Amino acid sequence: MKMKMIESKVKKCDYCSGKGYFQLVLGGSETCPCCGGTGKKNL
Ligand SMILES: [Zn+2]
Repeated sequence: MKMKMIESKVKKCDYCSGKGYFQLVLGGSETCPCCGGTGKKNL
């Protein structure tokens, strides 16, 4: 039984892990479309 209880106290964006951007495999980085680069979770 696996329950995902990933409710961090600090609301970080799940998408980019709170970084606000992605590291692209091809090189470079891209602003996270989910949080818009803030790294915070948009509710
Ligand atoms: Zn994000």
